[in-house]
Amino acid sequence: MTSISRRPLFGGNWKMHKVAAEAEAYCRELPGLVSDALGEVVIFPSPTLLPTTSAGLAGSPIAVGGQDLHPEPAGAHTGDVSATQLVDAGCSWVLCGHSERRRDHGETDAQVAAKAQAAVAAGLTPLICIGESEGERESGRALEVLERQLSGSLAERPEPFALAYEPVWAIGTGKTATPEIAQETHAFLREALADLIGEPAAASKRILYGGSVNPKNAASLFAKPDIDGFLVGGASLDPSQFSAIIRSCGS
Ligand code: PEP
Repeated sequence: MTSISRRPLFGGNWKMHKVAAEAEAYCRELPGLVSDALGEVVIFPSPTLLPTTSAGLAGSPIAVGGQDLHPEPAGAHTGDVSATQLVDAGCSWVLCGHSERRRDHGETDAQVAAKAQAAVAAGLTPLICIGESEGERESGRALEVLERQLSGSLAERPEPFALAYEPVWAIGTGKTATPEIAQETHAFLREALADLIGEPAAASKRILYGGSVNPKNAASLFAKPDIDGFLVGGASLDPSQFSAIIRSCGS
């Protein structure tokens, strides 16, 4: 596939962690630690922390995103958050289809596709997450599963979007994919993307790796040609760890 330069992207997924005072302290620290780093940085806090995080990062180049959204623009959906509400809280990104949403809430690829489309309609960029389970990888079905998740999650053809490959067996486990496995999978996903959206668009799409990324393993993963950044969970909770990951990818 045509080689093209893609701006690195680093997402920090706080999951269900932190309270407002901790978010404020984090936002005072992170911008200074990544001011000379290469690439784009986005923090994904819980809904209650979005206004605090947006205010804390205002004036810095660091963006804020939601961890999920409901596909409907408004309505009787207790406990959910809409794309418009995310925009109102200062978001420009949103995660769609994180494996913990698929696991805890039974999210299907069709729902992920609807969420990604709703995000784009409101002006948000979805970071669409896909990944195989340990059993699927061990039985040799990883690529088949990923291809199905990819085409299902992109069924509405959202634009723009970025993709995160997060093997479920690597999330929060300390078991990172080797750079070789990650690269082979990312290259496969880029080819599969080309079949869906055309080669020039696929060549320009950022595909992030996620799964137990830390300051020690980030540089060797990032050195691979189809790895365009990271979605980081645990290590993003600490600004020095997260900034060390980002800085190890260039400044
Ligand atoms: C994630 O939450 O998307 C993630 C990759 O988590 P961790 O970095 O903790 O494995």
